[in-house]
Amino acid sequence: MNYANDFTKTFELADDILSIGAKAKKRKSVNPDCIDATIGALLDDSGKLLAFQSIESQIRTMDSTKLRAYPPVDGGEPFKTAVSKWVFGPYYDQINSHFTRKVLATPGASGALSTVLGNYVSTGDLVLLPDIFWSNYQAIINQTGASYVTYPLFEGAHFNIKGFIEKAQEVATKTHKLVVLINDPCQNPTGYSLSKEELKKIINALDELGKIVPVVFIYDIAYLDYADQSFKETRERFNEFLSVQSNMIISVCFSASKTFGVYGLRGGALIGLSRDQILAEEFERISLYRARSTWSCPPTTPIQLLNILDDNDRVRDAFINELNSVRSLLDSRAALFIEEAKSINLVTYPYTHGFFVTIPCEDPHKTYTSLMEKDIYVVPLNGSIRVALSALPIKDIKGLAKKIQEQL
Ligand code: PLP
Repeated sequence: MNYANDFTKTFELADDILSIGAKAKKRKSVNPDCIDATIGALLDDSGKLLAFQSIESQIRTMDSTKLRAYPPVDGGEPFKTAVSKWVFGPYYDQINSHFTRKVLATPGASGALSTVLGNYVSTGDLVLLPDIFWSNYQAIINQTGASYVTYPLFEGAHFNIKGFIEKAQEVATKTHKLVVLINDPCQNPTGYSLSKEELKKIINALDELGKIVPVVFIYDIAYLDYADQSFKETRERFNEFLSVQSNMIISVCFSASKTFGVYGLRGGALIGLSRDQILAEEFERISLYRARSTWSCPPTTPIQLLNILDDNDRVRDAFINELNSVRSLLDSRAALFIEEAKSINLVTYPYTHGFFVTIPCEDPHKTYTSLMEKDIYVVPLNGSIRVALSALPIKDIKGLAKKIQEQL
């Protein structure tokens, strides 16, 4: 007897990160010295989930009537403005005059990704991904019926623009459309951020193709707030959007989980931009439909949070100050790891900023297992292992590169 349908019957999460994480957590409860580098969240130096005090105090004092009420399906006008101003920062006005902008509040960037992918690809379509990517993309794409193709992410220490353009052209020719998914800055799992020049070339290539076939550029900015040195600098990348002349859709996926350290509150947004008003309106209509027919309304706490930050300069400035020091904390962890790795010739993929660093290796499973025997937990990927610097205090990072090298 068939209960699940023919399509869902095949669903199986290949992503092992959660079960590996659970194993590490269990071990850490027995041995506090166990190094758990599996967690995709920011922990403070005492190993607790890092809390931004400015955010904590706002959440504690929120109006419970607003939290309990049904919110608008799209999050409401104040939220749509607030999240767009947060994301685009000083480029907000220019983005608004260059594009028609539409916004949907979503449960995390995950909700944004599944909405846009569900709406723009289906069986027979191909999503273009780099060959190193966040493993959950696979499940999100699979549930649409579509499939994906990859290009080699790096050429030496830089983004492989040539390989990207070749594959993009190939997909456009083959499927008469092009849906590209890029996680930037601070890519999960490598920590690579595209330079402005690289992003410009990507946008130019997509814009050219956008004059011939429908192009959807999904820009997953889950780690935006951990890039560069300041709020203003991280937003400079959006300047590159302003050169777009075609009708291509840019779909920005924002994660409140990472920005505010509120992973379980499930906040996020899908922001659609197009020069073509009709396409933007279609984006809004089909995004709303998908939201209403899946989770119905978004979680209210992250919506209130963004609305408060937009309304209250004092709270916003306090948070940005905290964010600056947390970014420095992460940078100091990364600097130590990278410096030690370099000193012993341990090769990592090019790292710029962010939660993770990734080390290419021949037999990831073997390395993962032998590190586990030494109470060091990392995540084995295809051809590499991922180390979550976001979860490790400096004391655990010291000497870690050497311990990893010994098990390669
Ligand atoms: N995109 C990337 C690259 C991620 O690593 C994650 C979470 O780990 C997400 C999106 C989704 O985050 P969330 O749904 O919690 O906002």
